Amino acid sequence: MKNHTNVIIIGAGAAGLMCAALAAAGGCSVRVLDHANKAGKKILMSGGGRCNFTNYDIQPERYLGHNPHFCKSALSRYTQWDFIALVDKHGVAWHEKKDGQLFCDNKSSDILNLLLSECDQAGVDIQLDTSIQAVAAEPAGGYRLQTSSQQYHCDALVIATGGPSIPTLGASGFGYQVARQFGLAVYEPVAALVPFTLTSQLKQLSSELSGNACRVDVSCHGKHFLEDMLFTHRGLSGPAMLQISSYWQPGDSLTINLLPEADAAVELRSAQHTTPKQLVKTWLGQRLTQKIAECWLAAVGFAADQPLSALNGAQMDDLAQRIHHWQVKPAGTEGYRTAEVALGGVDTDELSSKTLESKNHQGLYFIGEVVDVTGHLGGFNFQWAWSSAAAAAEHLVKV
Ligand code: FAD
Repeated sequence: MKNHTNVIIIGAGAAGLMCAALAAAGGCSVRVLDHANKAGKKILMSGGGRCNFTNYDIQPERYLGHNPHFCKSALSRYTQWDFIALVDKHGVAWHEKKDGQLFCDNKSSDILNLLLSECDQAGVDIQLDTSIQAVAAEPAGGYRLQTSSQQYHCDALVIATGGPSIPTLGASGFGYQVARQFGLAVYEPVAALVPFTLTSQLKQLSSELSGNACRVDVSCHGKHFLEDMLFTHRGLSGPAMLQISSYWQPGDSLTINLLPEADAAVELRSAQHTTPKQLVKTWLGQRLTQKIAECWLAAVGFAADQPLSALNGAQMDDLAQRIHHWQVKPAGTEGYRTAEVALGGVDTDELSSKTLESKNHQGLYFIGEVVDVTGHLGGFNFQWAWSSAAAAAEHLVKV
């Protein structure tokens, strides 16, 4: 049949390219279609330009989704060590930044080039600037796709179109649309790993402190993260806020511990004894930064210019309580404009956890971010892209 391949993959991103390379290396004829003018745009943008491509400590507990067990099979069969071996095979220089997070030494394009080179060697046909107008199942099996210029046929169709965050990078809700067309349930996507916006009074504080950061322990719904918090013109960002945003729901307050490694009540009493003339703002400034201390004390309405000797026990306990349990109610998040990922996606009950194939539609697969599996910050999302792609490819090669 004209324009027929064993496999068509929609989406030339992390998961789509990985799946294409592995399926083609295993003997399948593979075509990848993408509406963007360049493959792997999110890879290029990732990790501040250095792509945090995996993590030494990949654990299912670092993923969110309505079925927390779903990710286990794929993650255990194509592991971080497998991807590290691939990176090493291509001579890409990398390093551990912190907490097991692995980054390229040079540029994110090293990872994209690695994937494109694997695809090229295996004979994958990548067609960019191609919009898909319609997808249909063939009566005798397989799938038919209508693009702006051609009709394509395949035995198996892999949807790897990612999530809706950062539309300027080619993101779309196309994968959810295809899932719904075939009757698969989809959990409404929600922006995650995303900065918070604040209401007027706190917005003024964050704006004054824009660019300043401090290490905090932030918690919400029983989850907590000990990471840096960054004040921005719009609100709060930095790894601590991005991580907790995946657990936050509108209306929730965050509890921020500004001195997570100290006991402020004990330290205040000790300082009152040894340096009674020290001002409250100086004491706090030595533990945060002077600027953060002064702006924060003003925002919470605690007199910053009084000496420690002026504080009674209740006032010291009150200050310590505010420092360790600062309650912040975000106005919202910056949404898909800046979110790194989206929570939600194709309901995993609809898919095989071993192959990522639809349980009800033979030859239809969903991989990567379009599936209801979302990782923490730190290389977990790319590892899910690699692992889910490998699981699907392994099955595509067998059938
Ligand atoms: P994507 O990589 O998003 O690929 C989807 C592809 O589908 C795109 O090429 C897109 O053009 C194409 N597509 C979409 N709609 C259509 C359509 N209608 N027709 C045809 N093609 C379509 N994760 C990490 O683990 N580490 C990081 O360092 C990291 N940094 C990030 C930084 C930023 C700024 C962002 C936005 C995300 C970051 N992520 C990071 C998350 C990571 O990029 C995603 O989890 C990952 O790219 C998902 O892979 P995917 O293949 O499922 O989707």
